[in-house]
Amino acid sequence: MKRIYLDNAATTMLSGEVLQAMMPYFTDVYGNSSSLHSYGREAVSAVDNARDIIARTINAKSNEIYFTSGGTEANNWALRGIASANVKKGNHIIVSQIEHHSIIDICKQLAKEGFEITYLPVDASGLVSISELLHEIRPTTILVSVMAVNNEVGTIQNIRAISEIVKFYNVNFHVDAVQGLGVMPLDVEALGIDLMSLSAHKIHGPKGAGALYVRNGVNINPFMIGGEQEHSKRGGTQNVPAIVGFGKACEINQRDFEFRDKKMFELSTYFISKIEYEIPDIKINGHVHQKANGIVSVSFRGVEGENLIMMLDMQGIAVSTGSACASGSLEKSHVLTAMGLTNEEIRGTVRFSFDINITRDDIDYVVRVLSELVAKLRKTSPVKAKAKKEN
Ligand SMILES: *Cc1c(COP(=O)(O)O)cnc(C)c1O
Repeated sequence: MKRIYLDNAATTMLSGEVLQAMMPYFTDVYGNSSSLHSYGREAVSAVDNARDIIARTINAKSNEIYFTSGGTEANNWALRGIASANVKKGNHIIVSQIEHHSIIDICKQLAKEGFEITYLPVDASGLVSISELLHEIRPTTILVSVMAVNNEVGTIQNIRAISEIVKFYNVNFHVDAVQGLGVMPLDVEALGIDLMSLSAHKIHGPKGAGALYVRNGVNINPFMIGGEQEHSKRGGTQNVPAIVGFGKACEINQRDFEFRDKKMFELSTYFISKIEYEIPDIKINGHVHQKANGIVSVSFRGVEGENLIMMLDMQGIAVSTGSACASGSLEKSHVLTAMGLTNEEIRGTVRFSFDINITRDDIDYVVRVLSELVAKLRKTSPVKAKAKKEN
């Protein structure tokens, strides 16, 4: 059976070039980067090379890049590290309502510990309300965190406009840019960003590698102690092969940026026009222009999204409800809720996330299967009647 993977916002296939770059660090170059001998120096030089690549990618200095186990750790660290280091200054943190769970859940935890959290609303396209930010920022605010690109609907925030306000009030600004790499330029100077989270496996790098950018001078507590790695802020022997792979993935991502961008635009435009033509009563979510082309969120009214996903899987097509973390749980998407979708629309939402290896033939096949399944589910599903009562 033909298999088509359309869940690239959850994770991507490891690139062959990246694997090649990583291989020697599983075999010959196995030194501990903290050791003083030549084995150690080889590891250090590999890690530092990756650090330089990532720093260049986001226009940062190398000593502002701290390797982590991924985006979740970087997000947890940014929030907890800033919160605990700045309690004397204040206890107020502002985030958007549509952040990834690795931000939302740490905020819930910080709230239990006495921090005050404001969740900024978004409009129907998923853009954060700038006027609410102006209204909510106060002398006790120690951090504002807004994601660059939303993982469920692909909306790209006005990061520059947000940072101008945050900087005016001299507050730290963190950006979860895990979905932003390869989608938009992430120049921390031009965008006025103080902390930024990145992850390797969303850009064809290995799982379990990521980074937190921390601007020099920002007051942040360590994430793990017990080692001098990462300027003693994130102790523990580094995952050298994964870090090397992250650097390589970043390099390729930058090298192929324009080609990928153009290809993703063509694919998503083709998919959207086709699906809108073939399938009635659907809604494409997210901002029309200001969005990641690789992510297309579609609400099929009168359909149970989870059923559709399982039936698509049986036809070899892999998609998801929006966030890998939310699927399997019965909780409805906080992102779609914040954007004001009806319960019926939320239940019927499926995310298609592309990669450049997808062809028009693949899309033709997907839309053909989709239109058959949606029609079938609409005939049998009780969702429509139930949703009418609720909304
Ligand atoms: C995937 C993702 C994360 C988590 O990154 P991991 O490396 O998987 O821990 C954080 N934020 C966003 C927006 C993501 O899409």
